[in-house]
Amino acid sequence: MIYIACNTPWTAGVREGLDADGPLGSDRKDSDVTDDIATPDASVPDFLATPSVAEVEALRQAIRAKLVYQVAGREERANARDWFQAATLATRDRIVDRWRAANDETAAQGHRRVCYLSMEFLIGRLLSDALGNLGLTETMRQALAGLGVDLEDVFAQEPDAALGNGGLGRLAACFMESMASIGIPAIGYGIRYENGLFRQLIQDGRQREVPEDWLSLGNPWEFQRSGIFYDIGFGGHVTQGPDGAMEWHPGEVVRAIAYDTPVVGWRGQWVNTLRLWSARATDPLQLEAFNKGDHIGAQADRVRAEAISRVLYPGDDTPAGQELRLRQEYFFASASLQDMIRRHLRMDGDIATLAAKNAVQLNDTHPAIGVAELMRLLVDLHGMEWERAWDIARATFSYTNHTLMPEALESWPVALMERMLPRNMQIIYLINARHLEQARAEGLIDGQLSSVSLIDEQHGRRVRMGHLAFVGSHKVNGVSALHTGLMKTTVFAELDRACPGRIVNKTNGITFRRWLMRANPGLTRLIVDTIGPRVLDDAERLEDLAPHARDASFQAAFAQQRRVAKEALAKVVQDRTGIVVDPAALFDVQIKRIHEYKRQLLNILQTVALYNAMRAQPMGNWAPRVKIFAGKAAPSYHQAKLIIRLANDVSKVINSDPTVRGLLKVAFLPNYNVTLAESIIPAADLSEQISTAGLEASGTGNMKFALNGALTIGTLDGANVEISERVGLDNIFIFGLKAAQAVAMRQDGYDARVTVAGSDDLQEVLRAISDGVFSPEEPDRYRGLVEGLLAHDSFLVTADFDSYVAAQHLVARKWERPSEWWRSAVMNTARVAWFSSDRTIREYADEIWDLPVR
Ligand SMILES: *Cc1c(COP(=O)(O)O)cnc(C)c1O
Repeated sequence: MIYIACNTPWTAGVREGLDADGPLGSDRKDSDVTDDIATPDASVPDFLATPSVAEVEALRQAIRAKLVYQVAGREERANARDWFQAATLATRDRIVDRWRAANDETAAQGHRRVCYLSMEFLIGRLLSDALGNLGLTETMRQALAGLGVDLEDVFAQEPDAALGNGGLGRLAACFMESMASIGIPAIGYGIRYENGLFRQLIQDGRQREVPEDWLSLGNPWEFQRSGIFYDIGFGGHVTQGPDGAMEWHPGEVVRAIAYDTPVVGWRGQWVNTLRLWSARATDPLQLEAFNKGDHIGAQADRVRAEAISRVLYPGDDTPAGQELRLRQEYFFASASLQDMIRRHLRMDGDIATLAAKNAVQLNDTHPAIGVAELMRLLVDLHGMEWERAWDIARATFSYTNHTLMPEALESWPVALMERMLPRNMQIIYLINARHLEQARAEGLIDGQLSSVSLIDEQHGRRVRMGHLAFVGSHKVNGVSALHTGLMKTTVFAELDRACPGRIVNKTNGITFRRWLMRANPGLTRLIVDTIGPRVLDDAERLEDLAPHARDASFQAAFAQQRRVAKEALAKVVQDRTGIVVDPAALFDVQIKRIHEYKRQLLNILQTVALYNAMRAQPMGNWAPRVKIFAGKAAPSYHQAKLIIRLANDVSKVINSDPTVRGLLKVAFLPNYNVTLAESIIPAADLSEQISTAGLEASGTGNMKFALNGALTIGTLDGANVEISERVGLDNIFIFGLKAAQAVAMRQDGYDARVTVAGSDDLQEVLRAISDGVFSPEEPDRYRGLVEGLLAHDSFLVTADFDSYVAAQHLVARKWERPSEWWRSAVMNTARVAWFSSDRTIREYADEIWDLPVR
C-alpha cells in the first residue's frame, strides 16, 4: 500500500502539513493545527460542508500575511491579481508539508517511482483544482469575502498554463492529478516554456497568433530549485580512451534548471511533483567581449541556450526550427534521466537497482532519445557493461503511442543526429545492430528487417523515434482498443511479430475532479444529492444514476443544471463574439484542435445544408440550434486556418440572415484552452466527435462531454467505440464509415466527384461555398478548398456527408422529445465512470509499472 492515509480521515498522517503560514520546518504542534482546521467529514464534498469560523479566520490571516510580506501589497489598494497571488501562496503553504511527507514516505518505503516524461503538460488553471482537492474551496470563498474579495474574480486572474497543444498534453495533466489522487509516487518531467501555446485572436474571421506570456507576472505555484541543475551537451566529438571507454566532448553545454510545482491529489492525501526544466547558458555573458563594446555578440550564447525553453513547438518548417526541436527533446530527456539517477543514487546508493525503483513512461516519441541517453549515462558515465545496462533500460522504459498518421511519426535525419548528438547516434547504431541480429534470429527476413530497423533507409536515412522507443521499452501501449489494434496491423506490425505481447492497450481517461466536480459544480451537487457523496471517491457509483434516468423530476433537475450552464456560456459567447444565442436552443458543440482529420469541415458543410433547408422552408418548424466551434490551428497549417475562416464567414452570413429568424446561430469562440473548455462542456447538449474513422487515436474531449451528459454524434473512431459500448447505441448517434471501410476506400482511390454528383444537397452546399455566398467580398476565397475536396478528399468528408446529415436528423427528432433526450443524457453520465483517468492509471500501475495500487 503506497498511501499515506487510506481509510483514515483525510488529514491523518500529514497533520503537520496543515500549518497555514510557516515555511518548511514549522514547529507548530498538532494541537495548534487542529484548532485552525477542523477535520472535515471525509464523505462530504467541501462545497456542501460549512467551514468553521476559526478555519476561515486562519486562512484569512494567512492570505493577509502573504499579501503584506510576499506580494508587498496594501489591503486597501490590492487588486484582484494581488489577491490571486496571496491566495495562491497561502494555498501552496498548505500543500508543502504534505508534499514533503509524501516524498519522505516514498523514500522510507523504497517505493518505485513513476517518471512521466512529456514534452507537453496542458495544465490550465491550478488554484480551483488545488482548493477543491484540499477541500478548501468554501473556506477560501469565505476568507476572501471577509476581505471584500470575490473568489471567482480571484480564480479569473490565474493565467491558463498552456504548455501543450491538445489531447496529449491534457492527458499528461489528468494523469498527474490521478497519480496524486491514487497515491502513486510520481514526478512529471517537461519543459518550462516561457511562451506556451499561442493566444488565438480572431480578426476579420481569421486566426492571428500572439504570444501567451503566462509567466510575465510571476508564477506563485512554482519553486525555483537553483541547486538542482544538470549540464546538457550538444555537438562536439567522441574519443575512445585507452581502456576502450568512449568519451564525448560536447562543443556546447547548456544548463537545465529545475522548477517544481506541487500536484495535490484528491482530499489532499498525496502530493507529487511536476518538474519543468528551464535552459540557461553556463556562461551567460562574455564579459570581455561585452566590455569591448560587443554588447550583443557577448550574449549570443545566452540567447542560443535560452531559446530551448522559449517556445512550445518552434515552427519546424525550416532546418533551424527542426534543430531547435531536437535540442528541446534531448535537453529535457537528458536532464530528467540525470535527475532520476542522481535521486536514485542518493536514496539507494546502487545503480543496479535503478529499474526496480524507477519506471519511466515516454509520452509519445518526443522523449524517445532518452533510450539512447540512459544507455550513454549507464555505460559511459557509470561504467556499466552494455548487456546489463540494456536490461535496466528495457525494464525502466515504457512508451505510449498517440498517433499512427504517417506525417506525425517522428524521425530525425541521421546527419543531424550525428552532428548534434554524436555519441547518442553511435549508441543508436549499437542498439540497432543487436536488435536486427535478434530479429534475424527470430526468423525475420530482408523486407521485414528493413521495416523493423531503427534506421529508415528509404527517406534519406532517418532515425525512427517510434521504433527506438518500442525497442527500448518493455511495454508499448496504444490509447484505445481500436488504436491499439491498428498499431498491431500497421506501423508496428513487424515489431509486434518480433516482440509478441509487448503492445498493450490503455484506453485514455480524464480526471473527474476537474471535468465534473470543478467544471460543473451544479451537476455534481445534483448527483451527490441523488445518489450520495460516495460517488466523489468512487466514480463507479455514477451507475446509481441509471435508475433515475426515467424519473421526470430528476430529468427536470438535470435539465435545469444544463440550463444554468448554458446561460453562463451564452454570456461568454456574447462577450467574446458579440453573437446573441438563445439558451433554450440545442447547443451543438465541436471544440478541439482544428485539423482536417477531425473534420470541422464536415460539420460546417452540414451547417450550410441546414441553412439551405431553412431558407427553402422559412416557415418550417425548425428546432433552434446553436453551432459552437472553438480550436486553434497550427500556425503553418494553411488548410486548417482556412477552415477557421470559413466557419467565421458562415457564421457571419447565417447569424444576420432574417429568414433564419435566429433559429440557427453559429459561433466560433476564440482562444480555445482548458479554461474555455471548462465553461463550454457543461453547457453542451451535443458533442461532435466526427473524425475519419481510424485517425483519432482516442480522444478525451469525447469523454468530458459524455460525463457531463451531452449526447455524442460520432464515428466509430478512437474511444468513441468504447463510449458507445458503454452508453449503449440508444444513447449515442453513430454514423459513417468504419475504420476498415475507410482504409479500403482510401486505398481504392475514392472519387469524391462521383459521391457529390449523387447528392443534390451536397452539390448545393459546395456550390454556395465555392461561389462566394459566404465571402461576397472575395467570391473565390473558398473555390480552391472546394476543388481540393473534389480532387482528393483524403479524409472522406464527402463520403460520410449523407450519413452524418441523417444522424443529425435523428438528433433533431430526439431533441423534440425531451423525456427521451434527458433520459439519454442521464444514461451518458451514469455509464462513463470507466473513463476516469484513475482507472487508466490503475491499469498502467498494474500492467506496465508493476506498482501496487489499492
Ligand atoms: C480535452 C482537451 C483536448 C482534447 O480534445 P479532443 O476532442 O480529444 O481532441 C484539447 N484541448 C483542450 C484544451 C482540452 O481540454
